[in-house]
Parts: sequence; structure tokens; C-alpha cells
Amino acid sequence: MVQPGSIKGRYTIPARQGLAVPLAAGQGLRVINSSGTQVVDTWAFPDGDPAAFLSLEHCREVLQRIVFEPGDTLIDNRYRPLVTIAADTSPGGHDTLIAACSRAMYVHAGAGDDHANCADNLTAALAQHGRTMPFTPSPWNLFMLAPVKDGRTIDYVRPTSAPGDYVEVTAETDCLMAFSACPDDVYPTNGGDGTPQDAHVEVLM
Ligand SMILES: [Zn+2]
Repeated sequence: MVQPGSIKGRYTIPARQGLAVPLAAGQGLRVINSSGTQVVDTWAFPDGDPAAFLSLEHCREVLQRIVFEPGDTLIDNRYRPLVTIAADTSPGGHDTLIAACSRAMYVHAGAGDDHANCADNLTAALAQHGRTMPFTPSPWNLFMLAPVKDGRTIDYVRPTSAPGDYVEVTAETDCLMAFSACPDDVYPTNGGDGTPQDAHVEVLM
């Protein structure tokens, strides 16, 4: 007999690349910071509505916080429950403010016009499941720390997670979750030495 919470599938998010995984309502998923230093941009999209997405703006409004914690139900841009945070073994504080890195961001930062980036990783991961988005929704930046220091300014610091720390969510509806092992080697937010690493996803029964 399969025990609730046992692993149904384990997937690698290769360093600098993306991955999308479908989830059924009630199913759990863990995003694992295998190295302890890797930021994982995270998105969710409910089935049956091509214009709906996990909306951090709406979550911040309803939760009245800029960081989310176990027990919080995250919603889409139509205020519908999408996933609930079931567990978090990391120090938490996952950023909700900063846009996904993109080709334009790396050009802006002087890092060239062909840098791997989370926006393109999302597009590619969604395409593998026949889905498109006309823009890049703001990502839930798991393991990324960009704390607001004095109510006004943002500090960029490296992740403080331990290897193997994970965030577990439970789907509130059938959805597609998407991830990018952030390729950022410009800002000091990703990687112990600025080097992107593999991360992992476990889908639970
Ligand atoms: Zn990124």
C-alpha cells in the first residue's frame, strides 16, 4: 500500500534550465535546494484557464505579507486557491518582489545578449506541455533572499539554505507547476560562489 507523502517521481531541474510538472488537486510536490545555494524561480498555472497564473501581487494583497509561510494558500490572478504551502525546512523568506531574470536583464547588466535566463526557461518548460503565456508572471523565488531592510530598500544576499532543504506545496486544483534553476551569476542572490547548481523536484503520491 502506498503511504501518503511517499515519492511518486523525482525530477532534476538542471542548472540554468527549466522544468514543468503537472499536479492533480490534492497532490504534493517538494522543491529541493539540493546544493543549498540555488534559487528556484517557481510558477503555477491552473488547468482550463490559459490566462490564469499564480499571482504574487494577489497573494501579497490577501495574505498581507511580502513573504509566504507554511499554511498559506497561494492564489491565482482570479483569487482562486492554487497551492497551499505544506512545509518549509529552509530558513524561509523566499523573495516575492523581484522579476524573473530575462535576456533583457542580462543585456542591461552588461552580461551579453545570449545569457540563459528564467523567462526563456519558463517559456520552454511550458511549451513542452502545450502551454504558452504572453508574458512572464512574477516568480515565487524559492530560496532567494532580497529582504526589505528599513521598509524601503532591498538588500541582495546569498541563499542561507542547507543542502537538501525543501519547500512542499499541496495543489488545491489541477495545475501545471514550472521551475527554473536560476542561471543568474550577476547578482549575489544565487549560488554560494555565484555558480548555478542543479535543483530537484519530488512529486508525492
Ligand atoms: Zn533567474
